[in-house]
Amino acid sequence: MDKIKGLFCKECKKPYPAEAIHVCEFCFGPLEVAYNYEVIQKNISKEKIMQGPLSLWRYADLLPVESQPTVGLNTGFTPFVHAKNLGKQLGLDYLYLKNDSVNAPTLSFKDRVVAVALTRARELGFDTVACASTGNLANSVSANAAEANFKCFVFIPADLEAGKILGNLVYKPNVVAVEGTYDDVNRLCSEIAGEYPWAFVNINVRPYYSEGSKTLAFETAEALGWQAPDHVVVPIASGSLLTKIYKGFHEFERLNLIPSVTTQIHGAQAEGCSPVATAFKKKKDFIQPVKPDTIAKSLAIGNPADGFYAIKIAQETGGLIESVSDTEIIEGIKLLAENEGIFTETAGGVTIAVLKKLANQGVFQKNKSVVAYITGNGLKTQEAIAPAVGAPWHIQPNLKSFQNTLQKEGK
Ligand SMILES: *Cc1c(COP(=O)(O)O)cnc(C)c1O
Repeated sequence: MDKIKGLFCKECKKPYPAEAIHVCEFCFGPLEVAYNYEVIQKNISKEKIMQGPLSLWRYADLLPVESQPTVGLNTGFTPFVHAKNLGKQLGLDYLYLKNDSVNAPTLSFKDRVVAVALTRARELGFDTVACASTGNLANSVSANAAEANFKCFVFIPADLEAGKILGNLVYKPNVVAVEGTYDDVNRLCSEIAGEYPWAFVNINVRPYYSEGSKTLAFETAEALGWQAPDHVVVPIASGSLLTKIYKGFHEFERLNLIPSVTTQIHGAQAEGCSPVATAFKKKKDFIQPVKPDTIAKSLAIGNPADGFYAIKIAQETGGLIESVSDTEIIEGIKLLAENEGIFTETAGGVTIAVLKKLANQGVFQKNKSVVAYITGNGLKTQEAIAPAVGAPWHIQPNLKSFQNTLQKEGK
């Protein structure tokens, strides 16, 4: 028996074959992978996982691929850091950071979803991969396509950060910069996906792609000695990552790899693009799309596909969804760098700023475990932080000049 039963509609539960399809033709609900957990239960154990590769593929039994992985063999298994300095500032004894800012190969959590999507795309027979991206996804699809010999098209909003545009071009995919927001890019790509036989990682192979995010929960639980944390803080763009972190903990629980899960799942958005936080606070169960205006471009999705599900999970687990201003995002980036030596991008600034906001609101008890997900690297969004980091001391190449400067600076 196979571990993958097929796909099913998240809304009406209608079953589908495990092909490159993503919406239910009856109710237009999103499709999700259906696993045979009895088969998985027979195969999986803590021991087997611990002897597995030091990558996300140690959890292959819970990922939607049928054969050996072929893409992203060095992806995942990123540092899990006990953040003692930042924890002290925020009054938390057990604050942890899952540091995907150093994920391989392209320094963001998107390497996880792309490893799974491209491995599956190859299994399904595609020779061309594509995506609609807020930045990091395009970087990862471009790099992995180069290594795995796929033809590649990436579509991005034209106003992306320079580091993210260059971080596509260097791998020589076809880069298409669209005059519009991410939501415009995504709408265009849905149309293109209907015309060309390509694997659009976050459109027609989205059911497989999104499963890669579960590995952030698996790695967290394993690093905590096979248990789920009390709280997590997760950045929200489409909302997929948040829903899959929840799913990952609950799959581990279901397979008796960890004790029962009581993790409170909190979401983080930028004020300039906070449709999910707004709907959560107003207790609405539909999302009013917005036009993004924030420095957190990687989270700038105005009409988030999984926002509704993210709200349900926050509500069900007793979590909160908060938003922070661009000024707070920059402060968050600096707070993390100065205390923990980790340079994250604007999305990480959102996460840290929301973590701080929740800590100041008294949401976390001092002795509870809290995990914040640092999903991207600061070198990619330098323009956001450049005006806020000061400048070096300029001196002449002699001791006198150095000593004068030391005195002037009061050091
Ligand atoms: C894409 C992205 C996210 C969130 O992704 P969703 O699954 O769409 O919510 C978070 N952080 C970074 C850096 C990203 O690139």
